[in-house]
Amino acid sequence: MHDAVTRPTPPTDAAPWPRRITQAVQIGNTVVGGGRPVVVQSMTNTDTADIPGSVKQVAELWRAGSEMVRLTVNNPESAAAIPRIREKLEMMGISVPLIGDFHYNGHQLLAGEPACAEALAKYRINPGNVGFGKKKDTQFAQLIEFAIRYGKPVRIGANWGSLDQALAAQLMDENHAREVPWDAGRVLREALIRSAVDSAERAVEIGLPRDRIVLSAKVSGVQELIAVYRDMASRTDFALHLGLTEAGIGSKGIVASSAALAVLLQEGIGDTIRISLTPEPGQSRTQEVIVAQELLQTTGLRAFTPMVTACPGCGRTTSEFFQELAKVVQEHVRGRMPEWKVTHPGAENMTLAVMGCVVNGPGESRHANIGISLPGTGEAPAAPVFVDGEKKVTLRGENIAQEFIALIDGYVEAKYARAAG
Ligand code: SF4
Repeated sequence: MHDAVTRPTPPTDAAPWPRRITQAVQIGNTVVGGGRPVVVQSMTNTDTADIPGSVKQVAELWRAGSEMVRLTVNNPESAAAIPRIREKLEMMGISVPLIGDFHYNGHQLLAGEPACAEALAKYRINPGNVGFGKKKDTQFAQLIEFAIRYGKPVRIGANWGSLDQALAAQLMDENHAREVPWDAGRVLREALIRSAVDSAERAVEIGLPRDRIVLSAKVSGVQELIAVYRDMASRTDFALHLGLTEAGIGSKGIVASSAALAVLLQEGIGDTIRISLTPEPGQSRTQEVIVAQELLQTTGLRAFTPMVTACPGCGRTTSEFFQELAKVVQEHVRGRMPEWKVTHPGAENMTLAVMGCVVNGPGESRHANIGISLPGTGEAPAAPVFVDGEKKVTLRGENIAQEFIALIDGYVEAKYARAAG
């Protein structure tokens, strides 16, 4: 059973809640928090010491739209690789901020590789496994002192799977003394939040400015994550990194992450997101970036690439052609977007519709910037195209896909071309 949560009053129109006001944290060339657009980030799954492999994957993630990329730094070889990865990316013209993910031995690795400490744009510290017993506080302080010395921000990232056991035991003991004890789930949530928030306050006491701290407290359950972040957001003004940890593989991971993050983002909570998907065998790591972008775009928080509205198809559709057309169109606009971002800013806001017949086709097409209705069963072999609500042309024959794509490219050229000079 979940505890009652004090809910904010929803806004009266269809817009999300106003963004929660947080500290603005400069991370390399990107700013997280302070009301800025929610930043998309991702993490590599290469061995960081494999420099060519890691450079290739960071570049892929960046090209897909990741605005920050985290890498594991777990041994001297990976720490030594970081500055070389940074250098090679710069040579490719890629300045995406790199984040080092540190656990038990982070203090030693940063001490042993000053070039790694310098090359990273942020250090991720897990207060649950920064060290144990008496060493915990000392090693945490050492990591914060590195951040101060090198002028870097940190993410203090607590995780359900590596909860600070000493703190959890202390809170369990305190709970026994309560007149009405909390249930175990609430105590553990409290431990997770306190682990993050208390560690952040300790970092401030050591001397790290508040605007150099991002917090996260990740769990793998949707309702738990929502409860943890609502509570944490009500206690602090630190910028928050959202993510459902160990979300899973395939549609389960996508749905669980989207369900949890959409609720929080709708309430104005969250300054940067990561979708922790387990890739299917052979699937690109970039899937997590695309899901993060689509989550932000479909909820109306940011626009990255033109969105294609497509009907699901039914017994009225005569072939798979309209499904193929929807896919080709989405891939075409996604593929052109990196160039359009520079040459045709605003093209990311364009909306497209690909519909299977005339039942809902023309209506949906009128709502899009450009929409097409393919002929359904028993309909004349003609595909009307609407542009900005007006019927512009009817396509026929073998080359409907190419002609429709040409219309899209022409529309982008006419509407979004950057003014000369
Ligand atoms: S638009 Fe036509 S083809 Fe598509 S789902 Fe509706 S009735 Fe079926």
